[in-house]
Amino acid sequence: MNRMVQTVLGPAAPAELGITDGHNHLWIAPVVGNSPGLPVLDDVDGISRELSLYRQAGGGAIVDCQPVGCGRDGRMLAQLSRASQVHIVACTGFHLRRYYPEAAEIWQLSSEAAAQLFIEELGSTLRETAADPNPVRAGFIKIAAEERFSNSPLPLFEAAAEACRATGCAVEIHTERGADVEALLGFFSSQDVLPDRLIFCHVDKRPDYAFHQTIAQSGAMLEYDTFYRSKYQPEAHLWPLLEKMIAAGLGRQLVLATDMADWNMWQLLGEGPGLAGFIQIKTRLSKMGVESSLIDDLVGGNISRRLAMPLTWGNR
Ligand SMILES: [Zn+2]
Repeated sequence: MNRMVQTVLGPAAPAELGITDGHNHLWIAPVVGNSPGLPVLDDVDGISRELSLYRQAGGGAIVDCQPVGCGRDGRMLAQLSRASQVHIVACTGFHLRRYYPEAAEIWQLSSEAAAQLFIEELGSTLRETAADPNPVRAGFIKIAAEERFSNSPLPLFEAAAEACRATGCAVEIHTERGADVEALLGFFSSQDVLPDRLIFCHVDKRPDYAFHQTIAQSGAMLEYDTFYRSKYQPEAHLWPLLEKMIAAGLGRQLVLATDMADWNMWQLLGEGPGLAGFIQIKTRLSKMGVESSLIDDLVGGNISRRLAMPLTWGNR
């Protein structure tokens, strides 16, 4: 079956995506009723210019990890993608509870109702584009686990599993610094979701090689994104881990990303490496002598193939 990545502008073959930041944030609208201090990214000119720099540096696609109800705006993502010629993949799903107002709808939904919402956003339209002539669809499910899986919202996890089974989409799972991934794998296995649909985020914050090896061998992917987070000492932890995984032949289970929800990490909006900083990772991998086809997979091929899903169902 022909598997395609569902971008905000329609289906694309995985190879069309090129260099792809596997977990980032391009638009976070302020949410009425949210506690102050949560990340907001809504400077359309600044974001557009920075996306153009990413494109000029060789970037082809970005995976946007802001789900429904906590600041996502599919119209803005489509507009940004059209203007910059960068492929953008949007998500449905849910984030940690602290990113929502107290009475947010998502937390009131039954497992069945949440699954219906996720499937609708993947198969038909994002909520915010339902009345548009060209509705935008989600290309994967992003969900968030608490430090202990037992404290995570089980009905929403069951809904994500159901939507994954129904659509064949990928699921990116926020973890608290790699905590309880083993339990998460067990949960999805009990729900008949194969590890080859899963990507565990932020796991380089738990730089325990044996753990990474086990998860990679299960077939799940591991997402690393502390390249520009000095707090996590990437030179001491992330880069040696990455080298070890590559040497062990597990590089095709890795997804690299920069996760810049905080505007301080952007180049034009803040004083950080910016979106184009992702391309520097590729440069460094080349200098390390990593084989070029593996580099291509690390900075895009792995994630774009994982995001590819059968789009024969419910096609426009
Ligand atoms: Zn994120």
